[in-house]
Amino acid sequence: MNNSKLPGITNGFCGSVGNTPLIRLHHLSEATGCEILGKAEFMNPGGSVKDRAALGIIEDAEEKGHLKPGGTIVEGTAGNTGIGLALVGHAKGYKTIIVINNTQAKEKMDLLRALGAEVRSVDPAPWSDPNNYNHIAHRLADEMEGGFWANQFDNTANRNFHFKTTGPEIYQQTNGEITAFVAAIGTGGTLAGTGRYLQQENKDIKVVCADPYGAAMWSWFTHGHTDIDDGDSIAEGIGQGRVTKNLEGLTCDDAFRIHDSVMIKMLYFLLEKEGLFLGASAALNVCGAVKQALVGGPGQVITTILCDSGQRYMSKLFNHEELAMENLDPDYKGLQFLDDLRK
Ligand code: PMP
Repeated sequence: MNNSKLPGITNGFCGSVGNTPLIRLHHLSEATGCEILGKAEFMNPGGSVKDRAALGIIEDAEEKGHLKPGGTIVEGTAGNTGIGLALVGHAKGYKTIIVINNTQAKEKMDLLRALGAEVRSVDPAPWSDPNNYNHIAHRLADEMEGGFWANQFDNTANRNFHFKTTGPEIYQQTNGEITAFVAAIGTGGTLAGTGRYLQQENKDIKVVCADPYGAAMWSWFTHGHTDIDDGDSIAEGIGQGRVTKNLEGLTCDDAFRIHDSVMIKMLYFLLEKEGLFLGASAALNVCGAVKQALVGGPGQVITTILCDSGQRYMSKLFNHEELAMENLDPDYKGLQFLDDLRK
C-alpha cells in the first residue's frame, strides 16, 4: 500500500524494486541493424536484478505463512540475492543469514556484512555434496526457530515475480515490438519468468539462453542433456549445471555459448563507448543479444538484462593484473571483437 498522497512517489524499498529503464545500446544497434536494448537492473534499489527475486520470494512466503514476524531469512547465494534479501529483510523487519562460497568477490561479502546480514563463508562443494552452500542454508533454516530458507533455485516465486513484473515492463517499454529476449541463467528465474510472459503475449517472440563456458544450459536447450563439463568462466551469479524448478517447462528457441574472451571486451566496450559500468553477466548477456542479432539478421528488437554494476567486481574485472592471470585481454579494438560472435 502506498500511503503517499504525492504522484510519482514509490513506497519504500519494496515499492522501488523494478520499473527500471530499458536502455538502447547505440553502437551495437547501429552495427547490427537491430534494436539492442538493455534492461537496467543495476538501477534497482539493492543494485541488481536479484532484488526482484528477493522481494518475490519474501512476499510469497509471507502470504503462505512460511515467514512470520520476527523470523529469519536464510539463503545460499553468490551475493546479489543476499543483498536483496538483507535489504528486503530490513524493510520488512526480518534478520538475514547468508551462506556464501569463499571463492566469491570480496566486495560482495564485505557489502553483505555492512548491510547487517550474518555471513557464513564456506568451501565450494558440488550440488551432490551435503556441504554444498545451498544444503547448508537449508539445514540451518530447518534447525532454527522462525527460520525460512529462501531456496531461490527451486522456489518458483522467483520466476513468478519476473513473470509479473520484468516481462510486462519489457513488453510495454517496447510497445509490444520486442522480437527476442536473451538472458543467462543463474537460478533461471529471470529467463523463465520473463520469457514465459513474453511467449504468452506473442508466441513469435524468441526466448534465447546465453550461457558461459563451464555451464550446462546451452547443452540442455540444444541437445536435451546436462552431461557437459568443459571450460570455465569468471562471471559470477550465472553458470548453471542442472535444470532448476524455475527452469522446468521452459522452452528456448536457441542458446548460445559465450566465451569470457569476448565477454571481457564487451564489458570494457560498454563502459568506454556507452558509459555503462557493468558486471560480467551483463556483458555476457549483451554478447548473447548481439549474437542473436547476427544469427537472425537486421530488423529485430532484442532485449537483454544488465544484471548488476561493475562496482561489485572492482578487484576482479577492473584489475588488469587479475585479468592477465586469467589470460583475458580487455582491448576490444573498435568493433572488431564482434567478429568473435559470428563464429
Ligand atoms: N547476473 C548476476 C550478477 C546474478 O547475481 C544473477 C543471479 N544469481 C544472474 C545474473 C542470473 O539471474 P537468475 O538467477 O534470475 O537466472
